[in-house]
Amino acid sequence: MSVSLLTRLDGGEVDGVSMANVSLLRLDLTGGNAPGNKHFKLRPVFQAAHREGIHRLVSFGGPWSNHLHALAALGREQGLQTVGIVRADDGCADTAMLAEARAWGMHIERVSRSEFRLRNEADYLAAVAARFAPCKVIPEGGAGPAGVRGCGDIATLLRQVAPWARRILLPVGTGTTLAGVVRGLGSGCEVIGISALRGATDLESRVQQALAGRAVQDGGIARWQILHQEHCGGFARVTAPLQAFILAFERVHGVPLDPVYTAKMLYAIHRRLRAGEWSAQQPLLAIHTGGLQGRRGFDWLA
Ligand SMILES: *Cc1c(COP(=O)(O)O)cnc(C)c1O
Repeated sequence: MSVSLLTRLDGGEVDGVSMANVSLLRLDLTGGNAPGNKHFKLRPVFQAAHREGIHRLVSFGGPWSNHLHALAALGREQGLQTVGIVRADDGCADTAMLAEARAWGMHIERVSRSEFRLRNEADYLAAVAARFAPCKVIPEGGAGPAGVRGCGDIATLLRQVAPWARRILLPVGTGTTLAGVVRGLGSGCEVIGISALRGATDLESRVQQALAGRAVQDGGIARWQILHQEHCGGFARVTAPLQAFILAFERVHGVPLDPVYTAKMLYAIHRRLRAGEWSAQQPLLAIHTGGLQGRRGFDWLA
């Protein structure tokens, strides 16, 4: 199993650039119906719910949310009820994500943009918790200490599958996955996160917070940084060069990408290799965090 979770990008050049020094850790091939990083983040939440005898999990997301999709899948698998509070106008049709989540038993509640903005406010969260009680309310994207803990298992897997890896790249949304991976790797490693958002200037402090107050294991934790200029216009936006890169990459390497997260990470690597900013000799381990269900939202990929 280990070997098949590693894909070396030595199948040829994309736009005249070899990425043969890059290997992908294929989390997209793990987790069944909740593939990628999301099942790692959610597993401790499900364990806690089982332990505490709570049968309903509630969370938030957009109409193409990988997080809600994974929550619905795991809820069905593990026999827990799930509720998705979704930023979507009442009139519009279900996306493929929402239709599938519904089919897996998720109760979908559409809310306006203005209500969705309240999703991290204490008063609003208390009202949601009361409304669906007894339940557990999970932050959007599966962020939080449980999610960080769960992502420690990604580091364990990485050390098994690619013990040679020193420079590790991964896409960043909330920073939860980055924090978990950083905590699970030793100080000989460097983790570089590529932010999928424009102007998420609080990410560093959120990651620092997630890393603080934890017993540092022998050997310390990995160094880390986040690149903020690789969002290609903003969250879920796609530029023409990014689109061309995705199509060429998939043709050459036969690995599907999601335009929101993994494609922007690989495009950032590609551009640095092309510019000679990063050495083509240095081995890089890039984490494919999944998100492929979201491809259905991009008609030029279908
Ligand atoms: C959610 C998601 C991320 C971001 O993970 P965070 O832990 O929120 O930083 C990255 N890649 C994919 C494919 C995702 O679905």
